Amino acid sequence: MKVLSENGFSIHGFRVGESDSNYNYLVACEETGECVVIDPLDPVTVLKIIRKMDYRVKYVLNTHAHPDHIYGNNPITKVFLSSKILIHTSALDYVAPRSEGVEEGDKVDFGKQRIDVIHTPGHCPEHISFIIGDNIFLGDTAFVSGCGNVRFRGKAEDLYETFAFKLSCLPGRLRMFCGHDYAETNLKFTLKLNPENKDAKRKLKEIPEDKFPRSTLGEERTYNPFMRIDNPAVVDAIIEKDRSLENDPMAVFIKLRELRDRW
Ligand SMILES: [Zn+2]
Repeated sequence: MKVLSENGFSIHGFRVGESDSNYNYLVACEETGECVVIDPLDPVTVLKIIRKMDYRVKYVLNTHAHPDHIYGNNPITKVFLSSKILIHTSALDYVAPRSEGVEEGDKVDFGKQRIDVIHTPGHCPEHISFIIGDNIFLGDTAFVSGCGNVRFRGKAEDLYETFAFKLSCLPGRLRMFCGHDYAETNLKFTLKLNPENKDAKRKLKEIPEDKFPRSTLGEERTYNPFMRIDNPAVVDAIIEKDRSLENDPMAVFIKLRELRDRW
């Protein structure tokens, strides 16, 4: 499904069948046909889109090395022999030899387009996100009204720092492209915490039929509790359960993650 076209590139995305609501994306430069594939789990569908559109893959971008984000790497790089896998330098051992490490601040080109790499650890240490134009591909760092879990090599302290010092500094206009769709459960959790939040109520009502996780960082800042650790409504709901967390935003964030895990 083509999600959007702007400034000389197109984004395609689809929900992977029989998965944990995984989403696969590809972004192509319209002028040159060169494209990047992000976190492929279903290489067959990705390759079908590529053939239909007559694109050539330059890079497979991995936000992180969890199996459901790297599974389709090799089937794609085997078809496009000059393509490479890009992953954070610390996770090169998880992927095939034809790969290159990238880090915070790196810039990568495909066709006439540019990708900015930011390090967004927490869900796992190597997690990176990619900014292309007004779009951010967040993998499992942030979801609609939620954040990634920290169960598999993750650390809630790192995730707090990513939210507090990285995502909070990015422009609100950035459209979010997430690795999974958990919008309905996340918004119900948000409303349990903050029943009066009108933006969360509206977002829950507006979940699209195709479930495609559509949002922007600016929109998330109005209801996503993990992006509102400085908001009295969120803080009060958490410290009500444990007064010792008062004046400690990292502890509030960690408690919130625990509550969401148990919910
Ligand atoms: Zn993951």
